[in-house]
Amino acid sequence: MKAFDYTRSNSTEEAISAINSLNMAKYLGGGTNLIDLMKEGVEQPSNLVDVTRLSLAEIEELPNGGVRIGAMARNSDTANHPLIRQRYPVLSQAFLSGASPQLRNMATVGGNLLQRTRCYYFVNTDLPCNKREPGSGCPAIEGFNRIHAILGASEECIATHPSDMCVALAALDATVRVRGTNGEREIALVDFHRLPGDTPQIETELQPGELITAIDLPPMDFANKSYYLKVRDRNSYAFALVSVAAAMDVRDNTIQQARMALGGVAHKPWRAFEAEEMLVGKPATEETFKQAAETVLAGAKTYEHNAFKVELGKRAIVKTLSTIAAG
Ligand code: SF4
Repeated sequence: MKAFDYTRSNSTEEAISAINSLNMAKYLGGGTNLIDLMKEGVEQPSNLVDVTRLSLAEIEELPNGGVRIGAMARNSDTANHPLIRQRYPVLSQAFLSGASPQLRNMATVGGNLLQRTRCYYFVNTDLPCNKREPGSGCPAIEGFNRIHAILGASEECIATHPSDMCVALAALDATVRVRGTNGEREIALVDFHRLPGDTPQIETELQPGELITAIDLPPMDFANKSYYLKVRDRNSYAFALVSVAAAMDVRDNTIQQARMALGGVAHKPWRAFEAEEMLVGKPATEETFKQAAETVLAGAKTYEHNAFKVELGKRAIVKTLSTIAAG
């Protein structure tokens, strides 16, 4: 690991000031992804600005009936918080499906937003990778690409985003609150992560030096009827091959509203806007759910080893929506 300097911040202002005055600096939260990547030489910051002591770990109800999750809240605390378990079970389930209890106790929700891809080639510094070294190439396209994207990929990068939390947040219309030298702003979760395009090394809409301070969940009266399904190679401590987060309001067997996002299929959580529209007004039947699944995967592009994700994604969508409809 390359040597680095360490700074501990006592306020958000101090942290933002520190990161802007230091060269090659990164914020340090739980460190569960960043430190691993530093050990591999993928990340090489000269300075780490520790933000874990900031007063940003509260989970509280908002005046509009939504919930604010501080960026330093730990994954395990968030998953088990009564407001999250009762109002947004899909988010609690997503958290609890990720990593291990020890990692969930350390990892923060702010850091979870910034997880890097688990593409095999990205984490191997002996190999080229456009995300790690722009212009060096993407060996995944012609290589072993079983875990890679089938939606929204580019000629430069076909990596997937690894977070479970972000898939649930995308379905729940969450907003990310960030603060920088120009003050505070909000970014819709569905716009926070970018598709790879020609610049796979730029993964989010964060500006240099901006600090994530919180995630806001809007009030959604049917979010208590929600479910997260994660399909993976083994039943714990594995990333999603495909995952589905959905919430659905069904009355008299007719779908009134629906929200749905997929994980494991794209460079960002894949919100299924078209399928959501298609579902409204339809009977809550398997036939309807199959139509929604066809809509989501209609534009899928597969590679040598990941074609199975298309059928897997369709079945996961039908299973998720059927589970919610069954109550
Ligand atoms: Fe790198 Fe993306 Fe290609 Fe993986 S898929 S090797 S992260 S450019």
